[in-house]
Amino acid sequence: MAGVLPRLASYQAVYDAFRWSIPARFNIGVAVADAHVAAGDGLALLEVAADGDVREWRFSDLLRAASRLGNVLEAGGIGRGERVGVLLAQSPETAIAHIAAYRHGAIAVPLFGLFGPEALEFRLGNCAASALITDRAGYEKIAPLRAQLPALKLILVTDWGSGATPPGVLDWAAALGAAADTRAAVDTAADDPAVIIYTSGTTGQPKGALHAHRVLLGHLPGVEMPHHFFPEAGDRFWTPADWAWIGGLFDVLLPSLYHGIPVVAHRMSKFDPDAAFAFITRHGIRNLFLPPTALKLMRTSTATARSVRSIGSGGESLGGELLDWGRAAFGVTINEFYGQTECNLVVGNDDRLFPVKPGATGRAFPGHRVAVIGPDGQALPPGTPGTIAVHRPDPVMFLGYWNNPQATAAKFIGDWLLTGDQGAIDEEGYIHFVGRDDDVITSGGYRIGPGEIEDCLLKHPAVSLVAVVGKPDPVRTEIVKAFIVLKPGVAETPALTAELQDFVRQRLAAHEYPREIAFVPDLPMTATGKIIRKDLRARG
Ligand code: ATP
Ligand code: MG
Repeated sequence: MAGVLPRLASYQAVYDAFRWSIPARFNIGVAVADAHVAAGDGLALLEVAADGDVREWRFSDLLRAASRLGNVLEAGGIGRGERVGVLLAQSPETAIAHIAAYRHGAIAVPLFGLFGPEALEFRLGNCAASALITDRAGYEKIAPLRAQLPALKLILVTDWGSGATPPGVLDWAAALGAAADTRAAVDTAADDPAVIIYTSGTTGQPKGALHAHRVLLGHLPGVEMPHHFFPEAGDRFWTPADWAWIGGLFDVLLPSLYHGIPVVAHRMSKFDPDAAFAFITRHGIRNLFLPPTALKLMRTSTATARSVRSIGSGGESLGGELLDWGRAAFGVTINEFYGQTECNLVVGNDDRLFPVKPGATGRAFPGHRVAVIGPDGQALPPGTPGTIAVHRPDPVMFLGYWNNPQATAAKFIGDWLLTGDQGAIDEEGYIHFVGRDDDVITSGGYRIGPGEIEDCLLKHPAVSLVAVVGKPDPVRTEIVKAFIVLKPGVAETPALTAELQDFVRQRLAAHEYPREIAFVPDLPMTATGKIIRKDLRARG
């Protein structure tokens, strides 16, 4: 059990010594399943049922089921390169579906169970998926859409129950039970397409980011560093995030399996902070990925957990308030990381290798070249704000947007991938995230990132959740407007509005205080838990 990062004592030494080792032929499914069976097997998944019952899955169990599923796909006429949708919550079947798709040379398309019919029709139609693996709840959403999805020829349902299946629909248990439990994996190049992951759709229509098999290897430094030289003996990984998100799939499930570390699979119908703390302790979770939204909810609980060795967070700004709270609640420092579906886990922290600066997202992870660039594509000097960019080639970089060469071309200036995020780099190479291009607020000549103001407001005891946007203003271009969800039992009064405005004025700066505050019952969020600020802007 060894990671790819050299275990050296300083960030710079690790960064300088690391070299990618990407073989010409590589298959994600083989790497996360066959390789461990050949090496003596081991515990791969702990499936925790709703009633708390735990079922253990070894790598050989996953491989046998994935082989059966591969044989079912073959018999169903699903060929290499065809798209296989995976519409399932955290479960062994999700891992099996992915392993089977990769070993089959198909392209897996993870989909959130939370998606409604429109979101599913858009994604399945966009990639012309020919197979879908789902549960009964997913099937009920898809059944009325079948006329609109002519490419879809095979649907497998994991929990069909009793009764005959309609044409083109198979009951997972019956189909896998009748199939042989061995199957050779196809031989894939590391650069062959493996997966289409749709972006979160925070700024507009989601885009299908096509990734090659090498993307798993590309994620390893960005998993190993924030989890301080992951893997270590005894490690055990869990995230409440859905495995359909790149953050669940490639920051947790697949890298853990790759390293032979067991992953805990549990379906939380509704995220309950107290239950999450109890779950972590009961199952001896050592490694966590907790996105800021989950941390904000857990912050409302008084519980703590002490089994944890490492916590990563990303997807949105973490902020100093959550960092401080996290140290008290878990006894460890939360290491933030940064990336995007197109090019994930490129920047982040490891508090044991270098001090975490509150407000900074971290330093470039080993193997990645990250800079802040100007409109001409030139890297800017420290302290100058610009676009955060990642240099290619990079194994974690996408192959392109599915069927959208124009959008792919627009994503680059020369060899720099434009993240669409604004930030600045400091003398020590820390990236300071300011905001998405569209979220940066221009007010009275200042450029203001919403994250800093949100972090400040979160420190106020009345505030549970907050989102800050720019509201058009004839005099100042924009004014800062805050949408606030109060903690239960707190009354919204004009006095509280004034107090919150003062709170920001005193801690940040006069020009950053929210001139308008709206108290709201909840905030619009993507399935990945990201605040959709464009919807709040539209509310005015
Ligand atoms: P879309 O591209 O469809 O609008 P999206 O950008 O939210 O959606 P993702 O690829 O899931 O889709 O998210 C990546 C984005 O999330 C980044 O570009 C950045 O804006 C934000 N992000 C990720 N990590 C962090 C972080 N640590 N701090 C601040 N923002 C982050
Ligand atoms: Mg994006």
